[in-house]
Amino acid sequence: MSTHSDPNVTPRQITAYATLTRNGSIEEWSFRQREARPHDVVYDVLLCGICHTDVHMIGPWGQHFPVVPGHEIIGRVTEVGEAVTGFAVGDIVAVGTMVDSCRRCGPCTAGMESYCENGATYTYDGLDRIDGSVTRGGFARSGICDERFLFHVPDGVDLAGTAPLLCAGITSYSPLRRWNVGPGSRVGVVGVGGLGHVAIKLARTLGAEVTAFTTSPDKVEGALALGAHDVVVSRDEAQVAARVNTYDFILDTVSTTYPMTPIVNTLKLDGTLCSVGIPDRFDVLPIALAQGRRSIASSGSGGTRETAEMLAFCAQHGITADVEVIKPDAINDAFTRLAANDVRYRFVIDMR
Ligand SMILES: [Zn+2]
Ligand SMILES: [Zn+2]
Repeated sequence: MSTHSDPNVTPRQITAYATLTRNGSIEEWSFRQREARPHDVVYDVLLCGICHTDVHMIGPWGQHFPVVPGHEIIGRVTEVGEAVTGFAVGDIVAVGTMVDSCRRCGPCTAGMESYCENGATYTYDGLDRIDGSVTRGGFARSGICDERFLFHVPDGVDLAGTAPLLCAGITSYSPLRRWNVGPGSRVGVVGVGGLGHVAIKLARTLGAEVTAFTTSPDKVEGALALGAHDVVVSRDEAQVAARVNTYDFILDTVSTTYPMTPIVNTLKLDGTLCSVGIPDRFDVLPIALAQGRRSIASSGSGGTRETAEMLAFCAQHGITADVEVIKPDAINDAFTRLAANDVRYRFVIDMR
């Protein structure tokens, strides 16, 4: 029970957009926001991107329905707890895929909380580590977050185009940095969607020579416009075969299982393909790894240290996602279009 006397930290009823049951559509709903604690920041949600994860979470992956999705959040601070030092009312802030972690393990101590050995607390459909309440995402009028997991949004950036950086951006940026992509690197980006389109911009800005791989000939022009040096239409076996032993690193954003061997064969000796689409399984011949001592790896988002670094990097270089801004009443239509790959390249909900 609440013992707070400050009316500013009294739990409130928050209007949100949720799926009430598994595989349900998104409907207006409201929930009681958990009580604010000394290190918490409460914010009004301004914008929230729609990620492919959200599609899975309102379906097979969801655990605690109703689910309020959304983990690419831009907000404006409305209240700060008494112990908050880094944020003030009125600040423009961002929240990504997690809102807490154990804070004690090796990865947490290194600011890599997405790899918390005790499991990071996800921004939505997670369980609060203190009171066990279900966490709620950015498809809501208000959010609450411990300041450790909150980010300042650099001045002057486009807020709608920045929202998707909190998941699509960091999920691309982290492996590009981990595998030392930079000047002289030859990089492939497989899939020109929500993640892939940001990955092309990031890899290009980091100094790499970038090839986009897409199954859709109608995405070639778009990929070049995003900064790819060239584009391979991956259904054309000859085009792919012509790139054997070419790339130092491939960021694979495809979320379904597909015949990966021809793509893996485009890696150079000791090259790595990092799958951030995370399909159910990989369809690859191990001989393709032996020939060329190639690796297949994966990567999960990024921690607070790297997310702050990514936001600064994107602000410095003017990198934002290409977005289609929608009103909350168009969320269901957006989910349908997202499932059909019909967006260039990210939906962002305007919650204002
Ligand atoms: Zn996401
Ligand atoms: Zn931890």
